[in-house]
Amino acid sequence: MALVTPTWMVKAIYNIEPSTLKKRGIAAVLTDLDNTLIAWNNPDGTPQLRRWLERMNDAGITVMVVSNNNHERVQRAVGAMDLPFTARALKPLPVGINRAVKQLGLRKDECIMVGDQLLTDVIAGHLAGVRTVLVKPLIKTDQWNTLPNRFIEGFIKADMKRKGTFKYREDIDD
Ligand SMILES: [Mg+2]
Repeated sequence: MALVTPTWMVKAIYNIEPSTLKKRGIAAVLTDLDNTLIAWNNPDGTPQLRRWLERMNDAGITVMVVSNNNHERVQRAVGAMDLPFTARALKPLPVGINRAVKQLGLRKDECIMVGDQLLTDVIAGHLAGVRTVLVKPLIKTDQWNTLPNRFIEGFIKADMKRKGTFKYREDIDD
Protein backbone atom coordinates (compact mmCIF):
# COMPACT_ATOMS: atom_id res chain seq x y z
CA MET A 1 0.00 0.00 0.00
CA ALA A 2 2.91 2.37 0.61
CA LEU A 3 3.50 2.62 -3.11
CA VAL A 4 0.00 3.91 -3.80
CA THR A 5 -0.36 6.02 -0.66
CA PRO A 6 0.37 9.67 -1.51
CA THR A 7 2.65 11.61 0.84
CA TRP A 8 0.08 14.40 0.85
CA MET A 9 -3.41 15.01 -0.53
CA VAL A 10 -4.34 18.53 -1.61
CA LYS A 11 -7.54 19.85 -3.20
CA ALA A 12 -5.82 21.33 -6.26
CA ILE A 13 -2.31 22.06 -7.46
CA TYR A 14 -3.08 25.78 -7.17
CA ASN A 15 -3.47 25.30 -3.42
CA ILE A 16 0.20 24.45 -2.96
CA GLU A 17 1.83 27.60 -1.63
CA PRO A 18 5.36 28.48 -2.78
CA SER A 19 6.25 29.44 0.81
CA THR A 20 5.22 25.97 2.05
CA LEU A 21 7.53 24.37 -0.48
CA LYS A 22 10.46 26.68 0.30
CA LYS A 23 10.10 25.96 4.00
CA ARG A 24 10.53 22.25 3.18
CA GLY A 25 13.46 22.76 0.83
CA ILE A 26 11.47 21.78 -2.25
CA ALA A 27 12.84 23.42 -5.40
CA ALA A 28 10.76 21.79 -8.12
CA VAL A 29 7.19 20.67 -8.63
CA LEU A 30 6.93 17.90 -11.20
CA THR A 31 3.37 17.71 -12.38
CA ASP A 32 1.06 15.56 -14.40
CA LEU A 33 -0.70 17.42 -17.22
CA ASP A 34 -4.24 16.19 -17.77
CA ASN A 35 -6.74 16.85 -15.01
CA THR A 36 -3.98 18.03 -12.67
CA LEU A 37 -2.67 21.19 -14.35
CA ILE A 38 -5.35 21.56 -17.01
CA ALA A 39 -8.71 19.91 -17.62
CA TRP A 40 -8.31 17.49 -20.52
CA ASN A 41 -11.13 19.27 -22.32
CA ASN A 42 -9.73 22.76 -21.63
CA PRO A 43 -6.15 22.72 -22.89
CA ASP A 44 -5.67 26.46 -22.46
CA GLY A 45 -5.71 26.35 -18.67
CA THR A 46 -7.30 28.97 -16.46
CA PRO A 47 -6.35 32.43 -15.14
CA GLN A 48 -5.97 30.69 -11.75
CA LEU A 49 -3.29 28.42 -13.21
CA ARG A 50 -1.44 31.35 -14.75
CA ARG A 51 -1.43 33.27 -11.46
CA TRP A 52 -0.13 30.23 -9.59
CA LEU A 53 2.63 29.68 -12.16
CA GLU A 54 3.66 33.32 -11.84
CA ARG A 55 3.85 33.03 -8.06
CA MET A 56 5.92 29.84 -8.30
CA ASN A 57 8.20 31.55 -10.77
CA ASP A 58 8.60 34.57 -8.48
CA ALA A 59 9.54 32.22 -5.64
CA GLY A 60 12.18 30.54 -7.82
CA ILE A 61 10.42 27.17 -7.81
CA THR A 62 10.50 25.23 -11.08
CA VAL A 63 7.27 23.69 -12.37
CA MET A 64 7.95 20.90 -14.85
CA VAL A 65 5.36 18.77 -16.63
CA VAL A 66 5.88 15.01 -16.60
CA SER A 67 3.31 13.51 -18.94
CA ASN A 68 2.61 10.17 -20.56
CA ASN A 69 1.35 11.99 -23.63
CA ASN A 70 3.48 12.40 -26.72
CA HIS A 71 5.78 15.36 -27.34
CA GLU A 72 3.45 17.19 -29.75
CA ARG A 73 0.45 17.00 -27.45
CA VAL A 74 2.39 18.22 -24.40
CA GLN A 75 4.17 20.90 -26.40
CA ARG A 76 0.80 22.22 -27.60
CA ALA A 77 -0.60 22.22 -24.06
CA VAL A 78 2.29 23.88 -22.25
CA GLY A 79 3.79 25.93 -25.07
CA ALA A 80 1.93 29.10 -24.16
CA MET A 81 2.88 28.73 -20.49
CA ASP A 82 6.54 28.29 -21.34
CA LEU A 83 7.03 25.35 -18.96
CA PRO A 84 9.76 22.75 -19.20
CA PHE A 85 8.36 19.27 -19.79
CA THR A 86 9.16 15.66 -20.42
CA ALA A 87 6.78 13.61 -22.59
CA ARG A 88 6.26 9.83 -22.85
CA ALA A 89 7.07 9.52 -19.17
CA LEU A 90 5.82 5.89 -19.00
CA LYS A 91 4.16 6.39 -15.60
CA PRO A 92 3.71 4.24 -13.45
CA LEU A 93 7.33 3.51 -14.31
CA PRO A 94 9.77 6.05 -12.82
CA VAL A 95 11.45 6.74 -16.19
CA GLY A 96 10.07 10.22 -16.90
CA ILE A 97 10.42 11.46 -13.34
CA ASN A 98 14.02 10.28 -13.16
CA ARG A 99 14.67 12.03 -16.47
CA ALA A 100 13.12 15.26 -15.16
CA VAL A 101 15.06 15.24 -11.87
CA LYS A 102 18.30 14.64 -13.74
CA GLN A 103 17.52 17.39 -16.26
CA LEU A 104 16.86 19.86 -13.45
CA GLY A 105 20.06 18.85 -11.67
CA LEU A 106 18.28 18.50 -8.34
CA ARG A 107 18.22 15.90 -5.58
CA LYS A 108 15.15 13.66 -5.24
CA ASP A 109 14.24 15.22 -1.90
CA GLU A 110 14.10 18.64 -3.57
CA CYS A 111 11.35 17.47 -5.95
CA ILE A 112 7.73 16.46 -5.52
CA MET A 113 5.42 14.77 -8.01
CA VAL A 114 1.84 16.07 -8.24
CA GLY A 115 -0.93 14.19 -10.03
CA ASP A 116 -4.56 13.14 -10.00
CA GLN A 117 -4.04 9.38 -10.35
CA LEU A 118 -2.82 6.94 -7.72
CA LEU A 119 -2.00 4.21 -10.22
CA THR A 120 0.18 6.36 -12.46
CA ASP A 121 1.39 9.59 -10.83
CA VAL A 122 1.72 8.45 -7.23
CA ILE A 123 3.25 5.04 -7.98
CA ALA A 124 5.70 6.56 -10.47
CA GLY A 125 6.71 9.22 -7.94
CA HIS A 126 7.39 6.70 -5.20
CA LEU A 127 9.26 4.33 -7.53
CA ALA A 128 11.45 7.30 -8.49
CA GLY A 129 12.00 8.12 -4.82
CA VAL A 130 10.25 11.50 -4.68
CA ARG A 131 7.43 12.56 -2.41
CA THR A 132 3.98 12.76 -3.96
CA VAL A 133 0.85 14.89 -3.85
CA LEU A 134 -2.51 13.52 -4.97
CA VAL A 135 -4.91 16.23 -6.16
CA LYS A 136 -8.60 16.03 -7.04
CA PRO A 137 -9.09 15.57 -10.78
CA LEU A 138 -9.99 19.01 -12.21
CA ILE A 139 -13.09 17.59 -13.83
CA LYS A 140 -15.04 14.45 -13.03
CA THR A 141 -15.14 12.87 -16.47
CA ASP A 142 -11.96 11.29 -17.81
CA GLN A 143 -10.69 10.39 -21.21
CA TRP A 144 -11.78 6.84 -22.10
CA ASN A 145 -8.25 5.44 -21.65
CA THR A 146 -8.21 6.43 -17.97
CA LEU A 147 -11.31 4.43 -17.05
CA PRO A 148 -9.67 1.04 -16.25
CA ASN A 149 -7.25 2.76 -13.84
CA ARG A 150 -10.07 4.70 -12.22
CA PHE A 151 -11.93 1.41 -11.64
CA ILE A 152 -9.02 -0.13 -9.69
CA GLU A 153 -8.29 3.20 -8.00
CA GLY A 154 -11.87 3.16 -6.67
CA PHE A 155 -11.05 0.14 -4.49
CA ILE A 156 -7.85 1.69 -3.14
CA LYS A 157 -9.63 4.95 -2.32
CA ALA A 158 -12.47 3.02 -0.62
CA ASP A 159 -9.87 1.27 1.54
CA MET A 160 -8.22 4.58 2.45
CA LYS A 161 -11.62 6.05 3.29
CA ARG A 162 -12.33 3.13 5.62
CA LYS A 163 -9.05 3.85 7.41
CA GLY A 164 -9.89 7.55 7.52
CA THR A 165 -6.77 8.53 5.59
CA PHE A 166 -8.52 9.81 2.48
CA LYS A 167 -8.89 13.58 2.85
CA TYR A 168 -7.93 16.36 0.45
CA ARG A 169 -6.39 19.24 2.38
CA GLU A 170 -5.80 22.93 1.70
CA ASP A 171 -2.01 22.71 1.40
CA ILE A 172 0.71 20.11 1.85
CA ASP A 173 1.37 20.77 5.52
CA ASP A 174 -2.19 21.59 6.52
MG1 LIG B 1 -3.94 13.09 -14.97
